[in-house]
Amino acid sequence: MSAYISVELQRQVRDRFANCCAYCRTAEALTVTTFELEHITPRSADGETVLKNLCLSCPSCNRYKAQRQTATDPLTEEMVSLFHPQLQAWTDHFAWSGDATEIIGLTPIGRATIAALKVNRPQTL
Ligand SMILES: [Zn+2]
Repeated sequence: MSAYISVELQRQVRDRFANCCAYCRTAEALTVTTFELEHITPRSADGETVLKNLCLSCPSCNRYKAQRQTATDPLTEEMVSLFHPQLQAWTDHFAWSGDATEIIGLTPIGRATIAALKVNRPQTL
């Protein structure tokens, strides 16, 4: 079941993330899909429908994230929190590869988020 999100709140979230996925940074305008407003702390864990708990997500990142709040860092095998797009800076946890075709995790949170959300998945449209 989805939560009602006012048009004004939707606009604020879209502005906050410049109409790009908060996780993989894909620009919505370059896709054939409509991006979704994602509850960073899921509603099932009492996450509120407020700006500080919402981000814009492409459908793929949203599906892979689902109810997750933690994931395993593939390097250290430690369970860590997923990247929080409203509280953390993307560039603190991620960087583009030299040829800008992949996202590299700079921290345990970045690596775990990339693995859990399959951020570097091939595009199969
Ligand atoms: Zn994405």
